[in-house]
Amino acid sequence: MPIGSRIVSSPCLCLVAVLLSHGAFGIAHADGPSSPQAAIRHHDIVAQIVPEQHTLIAKDRLTLEAPQQKAPIRFSLAPTLQIDRIALVQESVGVEPQIHDVPFELKRGSAPESVHEVSIPAQFVTAGSMTLEVHYHGVINDPPRDPRHLRFVTPSETAGHIGPEGVYISSETSWYPDVPESLSTFTLHVAVPTGWTVVTQGKAGESRPCPRELCRHDDMVITEWVVTEPSEALTLVANTFVSTVRDWTAQTGQKIRLSTYLFPDDAHLAGEYLDATARYLDAYIPLLGPYPFEKFAVVENFFASGLGMPSFTLLGSGIIKRHYVQPYALGHEIVHSWIGNDVFNRAERGNWVEGLTTYLANYYWHELAGDRAQAQDQRRLMV
Ligand SMILES: [Zn+2]
Repeated sequence: MPIGSRIVSSPCLCLVAVLLSHGAFGIAHADGPSSPQAAIRHHDIVAQIVPEQHTLIAKDRLTLEAPQQKAPIRFSLAPTLQIDRIALVQESVGVEPQIHDVPFELKRGSAPESVHEVSIPAQFVTAGSMTLEVHYHGVINDPPRDPRHLRFVTPSETAGHIGPEGVYISSETSWYPDVPESLSTFTLHVAVPTGWTVVTQGKAGESRPCPRELCRHDDMVITEWVVTEPSEALTLVANTFVSTVRDWTAQTGQKIRLSTYLFPDDAHLAGEYLDATARYLDAYIPLLGPYPFEKFAVVENFFASGLGMPSFTLLGSGIIKRHYVQPYALGHEIVHSWIGNDVFNRAERGNWVEGLTTYLANYYWHELAGDRAQAQDQRRLMV
C-alpha cells in the first residue's frame, strides 16, 4: 500500500472511533430505555487548566431541554472528576437569577474507567428549558501510549491528557457534563498558564490575565471561545503555541479566519500551511457550498495524530514537520469540514464519510487541477 493511503487511513479510523464511542454511551435506566431524555442545548463553561498538576477546575452552566415534568435528568462525567455542587438557576426578566443547590445521585460504571452517571432527582425537573450549574474538579492524566500498529495515536490510546507536554481533552474524556446525542452550542472561558494558548472549535475571543476571583493560581491567562455551530462533541487542546492568523476572503466572497498553532520550532511553516488551506478552500467551496465554520486552524499536537475536528485539524508534530499539505493529507482534512464535521455520520450505518472524502480529496483534486496522470494513479490506487 502506498504511503499516502496509509496516512489517510489512520485519521479515518480516529474519526470513526470517536463517533462510535460517543454514540455507544448508555446506562440502562430504571424508567426504561425508551423514555425521552433531556437534551443539552448550550454549555457555558468556565475552566482552569493547570498542566503541571494535571488538573481541571470547572463550572458548566447548562441549558437543558427537559421533555417531561418530574423525570430525572441524567448526564455523564469522567470518573476522575469530582462534583463539588450542582445548582438550579431560575431566571426571570428584570430580577437577579435565583440559584439553589440541588441534590444529585452518582452512579459508577462497571469498570474503573467508565464514566459516572449523575442524576438530578425528578422533583427538581420541570418540562421545558432549565438551567443547571455544575461545579467540578479533578485530574485528567492519561499520557498517550505509543501506537502499536498505526503511525497515529487513536482515541483508544488516550482518554485525554492534561500535562506539561500538552493538553488534549475530547468527548472521549467526558470533561464536561454530557447527554448522548445532544447537539449543543458552547461558550468557553478557559484559563491556562501564561505562555500557553487554548484552541478549540468555534471562534476565539478576547484573552486577558485571569482575575483573582476566577483563578486560584497566579499568572494565568483566560481566553473566550464561542461555538455557535451546534456540535455533539467538543475537543479542546492547549500548548505553548506560536499562533499565526490570516483573515482571508475566498473567491466567493466568504470571509474565513485561517490560522496555525505551531510549536516554536515549527512556527516558520505557518505560511506554507496557510497558503495550502486557502488553496483547498477556494477549490472546495464552489463544489460543496459555503465553508460551514468561521475559522480553519492547523494545530500541532504533542502526540502522533491526524484528527479532523469541526473548524480545526490536529496533526502530530512529526507530520507537521514533513510538510503535510498534500491533497490526501491537509486537503483530506479540509474536505472533512463539510463531510463528517458538518454533516454527521452514524458509523454503525456505514462509513460513507470516508468514501466521499477520499474521493473528493485524494482523487478529485487532481481532476480539478487537470493533472490527468495523477488522477489516473489515484484511481488505480483506490481499486
Ligand atoms: Zn478521513
